[in-house]
Amino acid sequence: MSDANGRTASEEYTQILVAGGGPVGFVLAYALAKRGISVRVLEAASHCLEDMRASTFHPPTLEMMAELGIIDELEAQGLRAPIYQYCNRETGAAYALDLGEIADLTRYPYRLQCEQFKLARLLAARLEAMPNAHVEFSRRIIHFDQDAAGVSAIAEGPIDVKHYRADYLVGADGANSLVRKLLGVEFDGFTYPESFLTLSTAYPIEQHLPWVADVNYVADPPEWCVLLRVPTLWRVLVPQSAETGDPDILGDARKDAVFRQLLGPDAPTITTEHRTVYRVHQRVAKTFRVGRVLLIGDSAHLNNPLGGYGMNSGIHDAWNLIDKLSKVLLEQADPDRQLDLFDRQRRTITHDFVQTQTIANKAGIGAGFAAREALLRDLQGNAAARRDYLQTTSMLKSITDEAVIV
Ligand SMILES: Cc1cc2nc3c(=O)[nH]c(=O)nc-3n(C[C@H](O)[C@H](O)[C@H](O)COP(=O)(O)OP(=O)(O)OC[C@H]3O[C@@H](n4cnc5c(N)ncnc54)[C@H](O)[C@@H]3O)c2cc1C
Repeated sequence: MSDANGRTASEEYTQILVAGGGPVGFVLAYALAKRGISVRVLEAASHCLEDMRASTFHPPTLEMMAELGIIDELEAQGLRAPIYQYCNRETGAAYALDLGEIADLTRYPYRLQCEQFKLARLLAARLEAMPNAHVEFSRRIIHFDQDAAGVSAIAEGPIDVKHYRADYLVGADGANSLVRKLLGVEFDGFTYPESFLTLSTAYPIEQHLPWVADVNYVADPPEWCVLLRVPTLWRVLVPQSAETGDPDILGDARKDAVFRQLLGPDAPTITTEHRTVYRVHQRVAKTFRVGRVLLIGDSAHLNNPLGGYGMNSGIHDAWNLIDKLSKVLLEQADPDRQLDLFDRQRRTITHDFVQTQTIANKAGIGAGFAAREALLRDLQGNAAARRDYLQTTSMLKSITDEAVIV
């Protein structure tokens, strides 16, 4: 038997049910819980996995972390990188960009290099200590239905199946989002033919590369790589031809070839901490809202990692939705108006900024490097253009652009 709100006694009720405890789902849940809204996060994995994925926090995201009251804890686990650079190894030219030049526009004029699992862990611990929040690990959403009053969901654990009822369900369940699939929302876009290989090492490779900064986009035609530093590791990302089967990509021969290309023929044998290979997509969900079900983060959009916008733009989705859901739940604002606005604002920014910029970034380090280099050369002598470029690439402009979409 269900009551007037469609709830039954056997269902756990919460105002907001979040599918997926990645960085995006946890940011949403924690911010809403801090406002007194009841939240429950269901995460399929048994804990916050220490995988090597996003590791760059851009200035507007750091401002959001400050508003959440976690900036000091996050900074203590990261590395400030005010300067990032593009390098042409063929000619030795380097083009550095310094976020310090826009210190008047943000309290955080740098990238924070910090692995995403550190944010997820920190927020999971905070949520677990809150009376109006619940985090359930090893709990995978397998089905849901919605009606006029709410959403009923079913999730399986290692030994049982549980039933939930919520006012709204938020799909933050990553690239293979079951929530998106069950909604039947199309995921338009394309997949690059090549894979990306990422290697991480504790070896002090800066000792071999006097030109290196903490964040480097390195063209070495026809090769290229991204070289990033986190507090205890260097990360190297290279494209990988689709013809090679995955076991070869992850083998020692390929690893040694990558470091030889980077460090020279006399490079020592480098030990790696992580080796990951993954396919890269540019895809955006047709809508981020179907009734009482919302999509954020990788469940709503995917992009290549050049620029470091995947996790950041997902957190920006969460931030936008936090505002809209708070108005609906705490101020009785009109749900259709608020949630459709969330969809419009974030989908527009995803298409116009995140997709456009990441596709250009990938082209600009590969076949289109000459054009990118010409732009970078111009920027060196043009302070006003450099300031615009920094505002765009730091994502500050995407936040102000989003606010004027009605
Ligand atoms: C190898 C790799 C490298 C990357 N590098 C970068 C980078 O350098 N910079 C960058 O910005 N981005 C990078 N990305 C992308 C970035 O990691 C994502 O954009 C970011 O993780 C998105 O966060 P999310 O919370 O939306 O999704 P996720 O972090 O994927 O979290 C989704 C969570 O949902 C859980 N889940 C899935 N299905 C269910 C279900 N049915 N029920 C309950 N839980 C479920 C999963 O276990 C997972 O924990 C990389 C991605 C990969 C794969």
